[in-house]
Amino acid sequence: KQIEDLTIDLSKFTCEFFRVEAIIRPWRLQNVVKALSARGIVGMTACQVRGAGVQGGKKERYSGVEHGIEDLVDKSKIDIVVQRDQVDSVVRTITKAAQTGEVGDGKIFVLPVADIVRIRTTETGTDAEKMEGGMSDRQSNGASA
Ligand code: ATP
Ligand code: GLN
Repeated sequence: KQIEDLTIDLSKFTCEFFRVEAIIRPWRLQNVVKALSARGIVGMTACQVRGAGVQGGKKERYSGVEHGIEDLVDKSKIDIVVQRDQVDSVVRTITKAAQTGEVGDGKIFVLPVADIVRIRTTETGTDAEKMEGGMSDRQSNGASA
């Protein structure tokens, strides 16, 4: 399947917002953040995690250094809450920017989000989710997704 054909089935959920959670190679994080920002996805949260998958706890080398503690491999996690119709675009962008084709590229989980509160203003829902100059602003200004 080509990355451009990737679609996420959201039909089980009626909610407006979803969290795209991607576990990726740490040295790909910057690339992913750059690719998302270029599309107007500016709200995101990243952290360092350790995990095991098919790759198991096999140590991987990046920047010439061996990483991984005990049975777990160092990964980066990036969480992005977006509108329903932005999920496919975000998933494709992350996949394109994170894929090497080797075991250990990671995984993406898509979760429903009930609501959002912007603490500063107490806005909720779409008002809280929208970012100034973000993807939806750009689209309504005539730019393409
Ligand atoms: P304000 O207008 O009050 O600054 P904001 O919506 O710009 O609010 P921030 O206060 O800048 O939000 O966001 C705080 C943190 O919340 C960010 O550093 C980021 O970690 C996280 N965050 C914000 N938006 C999202 C999002 N859509 N998805 C994931 N994380 C987000
Ligand atoms: N959905 C927001 C917008 O289009 C962007 C969300 C985000 O940056 N995570 O403005």
